[in-house]
Amino acid sequence: MTGHAHQHVEHTFSALVGEDGEVHCAEVLQRVNVFIDHEIDEASADTIRQHLAACEPCLDQFDVAEAVKQLVRRCCLGEQAPDSLRLKVLRVVADQADEPR
Ligand SMILES: [Zn+2]
Repeated sequence: MTGHAHQHVEHTFSALVGEDGEVHCAEVLQRVNVFIDHEIDEASADTIRQHLAACEPCLDQFDVAEAVKQLVRRCCLGEQAPDSLRLKVLRVVADQADEPR
């Protein structure tokens, strides 16, 4: 028998709103997955929601992130997502992950 401890992952980000008072798209996108998991504080969630409503590129990314979530959920239920969709989503997510700084 193995002891399987469920570790809580801390999400550490830089400020969502910059010193200029602007919400930065990159910061929003970094949080989108956490936002979908409902693991984000209410104030940040509000800021993200407002930004997504006003910023089309971010909303696009949000759609992708949500699609990933749904895929994962579906896989957990034992349903198979179509390979083409899964590959497409994984590619977009990989793109996002190694975004140059
Ligand atoms: Zn944006």
